[in-house]
Amino acid sequence: MFVIGTAGHVDHGKSTLIKALTGIDPDRLREEKDRGMTIDLGFAWLELPSGREVSIVDVPGHERFIKNMLAGVGGIDLALLVVAADEAVMPQTKEHLAILDLLRIRRGIVALTKKDLVDADWQELVSAEVEEILQGTSLEGSPIIPVSAYTQDGLPELVSSIDTILAQTPPRKDTGRPRLPIDRSFIIPGFGSVITGTLTDGQLNVGQEIELVLAQKRARIRGLQSHKKTGDHALPGTRTAVNLSGISHEEVHRGDVVTIPGWLRPSQVVDVRLRLIPDAPKALKHNAPITFHTSTSETLARVRHLDHIELQPGETGWAQIKLQNAAPVVRGDFFVIRWSDVTVGGGNIVDTNPKRHRRFHAPTLQHLEVLEHGSEKDVTLEALNSLGATNVQRLAQHANLSVENARIQLASLIQDGEVVTLGTNNTVFLTNTTWLQVIDRAKVALDTYHSQYPLRQAAPREEIRSRLMLESQISTLALQRLVEKNIIEEVNASLKLPGHNSKVSEEQQQQLDQYLKLLEANPFAPQVTTVPDIDLLNLLVEEGKIVKVSETVIFARSAYQQMLDHVITHLRTHGSITVAQVRDMFGTSRKYALGLMEHLDQRHLTRRVGDERILR
Ligand code: GDP
Repeated sequence: MFVIGTAGHVDHGKSTLIKALTGIDPDRLREEKDRGMTIDLGFAWLELPSGREVSIVDVPGHERFIKNMLAGVGGIDLALLVVAADEAVMPQTKEHLAILDLLRIRRGIVALTKKDLVDADWQELVSAEVEEILQGTSLEGSPIIPVSAYTQDGLPELVSSIDTILAQTPPRKDTGRPRLPIDRSFIIPGFGSVITGTLTDGQLNVGQEIELVLAQKRARIRGLQSHKKTGDHALPGTRTAVNLSGISHEEVHRGDVVTIPGWLRPSQVVDVRLRLIPDAPKALKHNAPITFHTSTSETLARVRHLDHIELQPGETGWAQIKLQNAAPVVRGDFFVIRWSDVTVGGGNIVDTNPKRHRRFHAPTLQHLEVLEHGSEKDVTLEALNSLGATNVQRLAQHANLSVENARIQLASLIQDGEVVTLGTNNTVFLTNTTWLQVIDRAKVALDTYHSQYPLRQAAPREEIRSRLMLESQISTLALQRLVEKNIIEEVNASLKLPGHNSKVSEEQQQQLDQYLKLLEANPFAPQVTTVPDIDLLNLLVEEGKIVKVSETVIFARSAYQQMLDHVITHLRTHGSITVAQVRDMFGTSRKYALGLMEHLDQRHLTRRVGDERILR
């Protein structure tokens, strides 16, 4: 299915032509009828001689309603540029043509309307003028067909030309992620909210759950219509009306996008290839405030030039645009910028989730170049590079490829050694470059830790995990892999570099030996007055030579094990034990006996019942 959009100056006969072609009056608002002028978008459809049905979006020509024109023209396959033969090229003829060019609409037909008002010579002159303004635009060389809606003269030729061009138009791409940018919403009593728009990128089905991206609301498709015919699904490239259930009408706005839930996150910043039209009134300065229009949405924004100090009329450059209100966009979407109510430029989005870039930074500009022009494989790699580590769904969104295609590209990149996977089911992907950085970060973090705490055998996992600069779940997987590859080692739950050992001086070692001797001399009631430094002490704990049952009660491992065995055996035979019994059993003090029993409670080996302990 295909969509035709009109364009052209106000009063040049767009609506009249659509009515003559289709029998449908696209001016649907009362005000439009009263003023005899299109204000907002109008819709019609037509069956062509080949049997092909096409949708038509009629846009307003008045300069005050350019915003509405922009909302209608996104997603069209063919532009019908209307120029009245008596008035010839006028300001909005040029502005609309500039917009079609910026949106890279490459198929068009010029309808030279009101043929009945001019003679053949004049018609020739106007034709020549139109040909000239098309030069250098995406519509250069489009057929120019003189018509009269009044006499019907030229209409069959126009229809046949539309049919011929659409027969050569490739079908709409289907990435499996349908997007319906809302251009109209209304309530039908008894049915609820209805939204309309031009469906792209995938199919919608009745009963399906959808998401309104900006409103962050979910709803269900109760009904679908195209050209006033009800169906159970809608295909990409069709004007579609969707009846939604489970959402209040106040939550539905032009500019929002209906899609399948969970994948499209609105962008606050976008990297773009930006072109200033030759007719722009002056250079676009760095940080200049503009309005940013893409599909049906618009927002205030600021332009940061990345490779120009400022952009002159007619120039093209890389820019990062910071949007005041987030926009639901994907890579490859086209946009238009306006400034003081004049269209000054536009281009295409190459990154929907970029970092802030340094200006005039060669590697950044190279990265953008690949994102714009590279093969699908190159784009996958670049997108993965800017995302860090991620799953295939997010990557597919970022690169604007179908999930299936992203998988194919990844498989080939893995084979080339460019991409590494993590997780038992290989669900996380990162570029080899990122992986090398992760390895480096882990090594540096451990090295720093080891030199900061020379007496500690290993670093707490958390400490290293937070240094990897990865999402927390992914960093767990990364650490797992680093251990598997023997790049780092695991000691209990902590981590160390292979070959690292705590550095104990001779003097410190003597201190430790003496301390152990003292502990063992009186194993159940050690008489120790000076305890080694905490890090030294922890070393003995890590090595399993001592057990700290509390901050102040420490036993040698062998003594601890004996006490544990005896207490458990006693409990098995007698059922319970008191602190006094423990004290007497080992000829120790109440402090040590109590310390031991509280520790066993904490280990969930025993449970306190009154003055006694029983086994858990
Ligand atoms: P739009 O603003 O471009 O949609 O223009 P309209 O379709 O509203 O037409 C503007 C005016 O031109 C109306 O008064 C129409 O009746 C008139 N008009 C449209 N088409 C023709 C035509 O083929 N011949 C003549 N003579 N007048 C036309």
